[in-house]
Amino acid sequence: MPAMPDKDWKKKLTKEQYHILREKGTEFPFTGKFYLHKEKGFYVCAGCGQKLFFSDAKFDSGCGWPSFFESMPETVELRRDESHGMVRTEVTCRKCGGHLGHVFDDGPISTGKRYCINSAALEFRKKK
Ligand code: FE
Repeated sequence: MPAMPDKDWKKKLTKEQYHILREKGTEFPFTGKFYLHKEKGFYVCAGCGQKLFFSDAKFDSGCGWPSFFESMPETVELRRDESHGMVRTEVTCRKCGGHLGHVFDDGPISTGKRYCINSAALEFRKKK
């Protein structure tokens, strides 16, 4: 997908979505609309609509952000992030490059991963 100019992202996204997705922001813990969300379906990128996570991969991590033990295959990119004096692994949408959150190695036994994702970077699609 060709890179979208910044001014178009500003038009397309809400202020909060823009801050998270395009400026690598982080929403306050325990505030996001999907933190306690338990419906069956899947989550897509709020920027470009790409499918990212099945609701079946969501778990209660207690960390304050929606948490998943795996992404759908080939949908995200991971990069080393040394910002804020920490070494973390950033998770971005493979299609639009939007910042989603970070992935940590303290997830449940099945995968050992905890994708800690901002609600504002996601939209939910109900299972039909
Ligand atoms: Fe995207």
